[in-house]
Amino acid sequence: MTDLETLEIETVVRLLSKTPRLTRQARYEECTAIVARHLSGGSEFLFALIKAAIKAGVHQTPLIEDAVSFLDDAGLARLAFFLQGEAKRGTDVDDLLSGAALQQPNLFPDDVLANIPDFEDWLTHADPRSPPGCHHLVFEGGAPDDPFFPTRVNHPTWHLPTAGQPFTIGGEGTGQCPTCSERLAHLITLDNFGVSANLSLPRLRIETCHGSLEVTFYVHDEEGRPTPIAPFHSDNDFTPQPMTRKSTVRLAPTPPRWLRQSYGTSNSRQNLFRLGGLPSWVQGPQFPVVPGTDRPMKFLLQFDSLAGFFWGSGGMLYIFWDEESRMTCHVPQYT
Ligand SMILES: [Zn+2]
Repeated sequence: MTDLETLEIETVVRLLSKTPRLTRQARYEECTAIVARHLSGGSEFLFALIKAAIKAGVHQTPLIEDAVSFLDDAGLARLAFFLQGEAKRGTDVDDLLSGAALQQPNLFPDDVLANIPDFEDWLTHADPRSPPGCHHLVFEGGAPDDPFFPTRVNHPTWHLPTAGQPFTIGGEGTGQCPTCSERLAHLITLDNFGVSANLSLPRLRIETCHGSLEVTFYVHDEEGRPTPIAPFHSDNDFTPQPMTRKSTVRLAPTPPRWLRQSYGTSNSRQNLFRLGGLPSWVQGPQFPVVPGTDRPMKFLLQFDSLAGFFWGSGGMLYIFWDEESRMTCHVPQYT
């Protein structure tokens, strides 16, 4: 070890243990506790808080950005008006504005929406202001995993009113990956729920090789059981821990305010387990076609890296479906 290396180690340790950082964290926790007391108390406090944070220039933090989700419709409308005024004055309120525009795009003109990265994909749809309906998978017992952040645990998307019977997600699959020989992981079995999936099959069982980071295809028999036909692996793949955890979920029809969810502003904070609707891309649009054709596959569902699921370094898995070939395509994206 050279003198320089010893000095560098001392510097790293000193910087990591510097009190101001700890103090800031302690202060942030205190702020979080205060905000948590006001999440269900109407919009007055939260709207005033967001305004004050912008005025003081401390609004670019998840705590303030997440507060937008808890405003009522009138509060959100007031915020939309206020943010556009601030933006015209040159204040950088992009993240807050993006959060509000995703939740209620009708409060914003087209030129504002066009500057929000997630709308790039959605604007290519026939009517981006009225995206297709979808359902959230709502977990029994509320938000899974890390329950420490009140704005996340209490986020409306984890607590949407559900309809219909409970069903199980996760657990071991029945198939095996022919490339890595690992047992497939069971994601979900879609029985004929009469929801947006539009399946002609009585049942569609979705299993995936969770060690594959590549786009893969599975063909389904008339009972909906999957067989991997192109379970590609690459040099970047790894053998992960088996995904054996099971959870009970119910379907919740998604209210208009949560039809557009951006991965960038909502991952691990909002519920992104969804059936149908618009994908919340990690890396941007990636719509597969049926192999050997130019027929685009239909977006069926997406799973986040929570509740025992983990995609790549922590990302999303998107499943697409083609009725004619009875194929699913599994597209992982990660950060
Ligand atoms: Zn595999």
